[in-house]
This record gives sequence, structure tokens and C-alpha cells, in this order.
Amino acid sequence: MLGLGVWQVRDGRECERAVAWALELGYRLIDTAQAYGNESSVGRAIRNSGVPREDIFLTTKFYPGGKDPRVEAEKSLARLGTDYLDLYLIHWPQGGPTWAWAGMEAASEAGLTKGVGISNFGAAELQELLKVSQIQPAVNQILFSPFDYRRALVEAGADAGVVSQAYSPLGTGRHLGDPAVERIASAAGRTPAQVLIRWAIQKGLSVIPKSTHRERIEANFDVFDFELDEQSISALDSLDTTHQTADALAQRQKWWS
Ligand code: NDP
Repeated sequence: MLGLGVWQVRDGRECERAVAWALELGYRLIDTAQAYGNESSVGRAIRNSGVPREDIFLTTKFYPGGKDPRVEAEKSLARLGTDYLDLYLIHWPQGGPTWAWAGMEAASEAGLTKGVGISNFGAAELQELLKVSQIQPAVNQILFSPFDYRRALVEAGADAGVVSQAYSPLGTGRHLGDPAVERIASAAGRTPAQVLIRWAIQKGLSVIPKSTHRERIEANFDVFDFELDEQSISALDSLDTTHQTADALAQRQKWWS
């Protein structure tokens, strides 16, 4: 339900410390990617944590500038120093939504990963994929926060049996100073980060906030002992700028096209 994301976390000490703290504080889901360049540090922190590998849910993502998802999964495993992934995602649908899927399935069939999935796929791209897939995509990881409330995309995922996972739940930090978020947080006696994370959880999504600060990693995980009331939820819903879209990103946001 709640994991640590490590995009823009420097390989080496910074990444190792963040992952080690998260595991020590109770996180069991870690989200990295080939494109983040920090899989080795994630792997080292996991191995040194003392937490059994099977208790950890480890996600990495196929960089779709590459050719063969299966070969790249083997390289990820070598960097991570583990013999399986829990989840392997196509990072974004560069070159179309279907070409990489056979390689993802091959990675799964070879036992390199327990689950395969997608990221930054809109509802139309998901439908295209479902026409050719033998193995069901388990997860679609999407940009999702009150400001990016892609309700139709989450519903399309649910209809197809695909779990939606919220990335950039804090807007990469940008939403933390929003006055409406601050007001709701102060009324709830919580931090803006906790309110944004809790909102995603109450929408039924798995969520993967990033931080490199121990006290923030701890506070971001402390969201299971309160509930946002209906009024706060609808005030947060109203911040949406996407018209509750079924698209994963607006055209101008697609960095690969
Ligand atoms: P988030 O929305 O999680 O926000 C992270 C930012 O907020 C950082 O600047 C962090 O600073 C700050 N922050 C975190 N917690 C707090 C807090 N409690 N108080 C104050 N500031 C805080 O950003 P991301 O965009 O990194 O998204 C999270 C994860 O989602 C990524 O790390 C990655 O794993 C995944 N992701 C996936 C994408 C995809 O294409 N599939 C795209 C983008 C993200 P600091 O670190 O200094 O504490």
C-alpha cells in the first residue's frame, strides 16, 4: 500500500541510507527503476537491512529506450543483487503500448519477476495492451494526487483488474505548500504530506512518496491512524486539474514523445 520511491535519489550513500531507514521504520515496498541509476544502492540497503528478502516488495522498471525487457531484467537483478523482482514495469509507453510486452512476459516466464505491469499508460493504451497480452498487467503506476486526480484512468484499471499505484503523490514536493492542502492538514492536525498520502490511500491506490530525510520518511508512513472526512476529501478532489481524465499524462507532459 505504501512504499518508498527513489527517483532522483543519488546512487551511493544517499540512496542506501534512505532505503535502510525506510526498512527500519516499517516500509516493505521499494520502488526503483533502471533509469534512476540507483539499483545497486537499493540492493545493498536491502541486503544489509536484516529484513528477509521475501518480506520486501521490490519494484523496478524497464527503460523503454532499451530493446529487450528480459535481458534488461537480468541486468537489474545483477545490480540489485537479488534473484527475483516482485514487480517489473514498462516505465512508459515509448514506441507504443504493446511492443515490449512479449519481453516482459518472457521475464516473468523465466522467473525473473513475480509480476509484470505498466506505468504512464492511459486507458486507451491499456486497452491496446490487453488485446495482445497473455499475462495480465498487475499494476499501472500513474501520476496521481488531488491535483492529478485521474479518476477515469483508475476506474479503467479497476475494470480490467489492474491495480493503480500513485507516483509523485506530493507533486515532487510542489503540492506541499498549497494553501488548501495546508488548511486541511492544519484542521486534521497532520502535515500536508500526510494528508496527500492519506488521500491517495483513501482513493484505494498504492502510493510511493520519496524522501531522503529520516524524519520525513517516518512521518510519511504514519498515516494509518487517521481518516480524512468527506468534506476534506471533496475539498481535495476539487483541486484536480485533469478533469478526472483517463489519460496518463497530458500530451505536453509526455517526455518521450
Ligand atoms: P513525491 O511526490 O514523493 O515528492 C518528493 C519531494 O517531496 C521531495 O522533494 C522530498 O524532499 C519532499 N518531501 C517528501 N516528504 C516530505 C515531507 N514529509 N515534508 C516535506 N517535504 C517532503 O516525488 P516523486 O516525484 O519522487 O514521486 C515519488 C516516487 O514515485 C518516485 O521517487 C518514483 O519512485 C516514483 N515515480 C515514478 C514515475 C514514473 O514515471 N513511473 C515518475 C515520477 C515518480 P526530500 O527528499 O528532500 O525529503
